[in-house]
Amino acid sequence: MECCKCKKYNWNDPQKAIWTDSNDQGYCVFHAPTEYKEVSEADFAALVARHLAIAINQNKEECNLSGTVFCGNIDFPDQTLPKLDLRDTSFEGRVVFKGCNFDLLNLNDASFEDRVAFIDCDFNGRVAFGGCTFVSDVSFDGSSFLKGAAFISTKFMGDAYFNETRFLNGLWFRDVVFSGKVHFVDSEFAHGRFWKVIAEDYIMLRYCRFTASSCIDFVEIDLLWFDFLSTNLENIRFTSCNWPQDKGRYCIQHDMHGVQLSEVLNFYQRMKRKCKTENNEYEASKWHIAEKEAQLKILKREKKSNFIWALLWLYKIFSGFGENPLRACVIFLVILFLPLATISGVEVYNCFSWHFDFDKVDMVLKDWLMFVPFARSNDFRDVSGGMHLVIIGWQLFITTQFALFAFALRNRFRR
Ligand SMILES: [Zn+2]
Repeated sequence: MECCKCKKYNWNDPQKAIWTDSNDQGYCVFHAPTEYKEVSEADFAALVARHLAIAINQNKEECNLSGTVFCGNIDFPDQTLPKLDLRDTSFEGRVVFKGCNFDLLNLNDASFEDRVAFIDCDFNGRVAFGGCTFVSDVSFDGSSFLKGAAFISTKFMGDAYFNETRFLNGLWFRDVVFSGKVHFVDSEFAHGRFWKVIAEDYIMLRYCRFTASSCIDFVEIDLLWFDFLSTNLENIRFTSCNWPQDKGRYCIQHDMHGVQLSEVLNFYQRMKRKCKTENNEYEASKWHIAEKEAQLKILKREKKSNFIWALLWLYKIFSGFGENPLRACVIFLVILFLPLATISGVEVYNCFSWHFDFDKVDMVLKDWLMFVPFARSNDFRDVSGGMHLVIIGWQLFITTQFALFAFALRNRFRR
């Protein structure tokens, strides 16, 4: 009896069935479930190696292993492999591809139950990981994708390592779920796209390199767990992405946990510069606020910089770091009319009368105008030296606050 799966997957060399299921369907040693294979792990690995060797030695264009159930651990030889069809396969043990050269590799809908490592492999043709599931950790460390890699609806349930991995001709991550930590450290990118990627733990892109004029797009992604510290942001484009926020301002994970604050500050500054370069003043303003908040945190830690911290804190309180004209305006009006309210209050408290006295109103207004800059309705002959200083100080306060308001207003309309 011929194997039903060999037929389904169009194997050129259909294998004999060694087990029959309840529907009277036959399965060969490659396709039978592990418990019915009746071969040891080593013997099965030898069968796979022989299948590969036949394809290599006979210069076949393709080695079809689709649908195979790989029992136990398996190591693929470090040599040039032909077009390898591994779609719908199931790897139940640890898998190692070390130093392999792939012409084409199809891993669509494959599942890896244990760890898998593609170490120092060269993918010379296109590689497809559509619908592939990595239950445990996966590593592509030191590998090169020369013709593009497509991870569509791929699930990474363990940690994923792409350290020193080179994506030299396109990279697509679409609808991918990363449940563990992901490392792109010292990796190299040509153009590519991360689209609707879901990250449930840190995704670290650090010290990444980009080929000239290449660009990586991040589209429709919640960036809560993305770490772009020490990565060249000029080659990254963000479209419809959500940045993590804390109390209405941008705040990345490291900032939330108060770690690596100088790198966080540097990241905010680079994001602000990037937005300004792209004429996106609206976003630049948000990164400006994030940058100043990070500066406040750093200054608070460096106890010796109390004075600068206090100035920056006042800048925040009085004008939202020059980005909140409404707050600056309200405070300006409060300090403008506070002397009037105080003088009126004192006058009413000291000389209360039901009779409305216009002279007193005139006197109160004149007293108030002494506090208003540029209003010269009264001279200071009747004012004591100490009070004179208070008045000058208050005038300075009003002038400064008005300047902060005007500055914040200009920033708002610049967008
Ligand atoms: Zn079969």
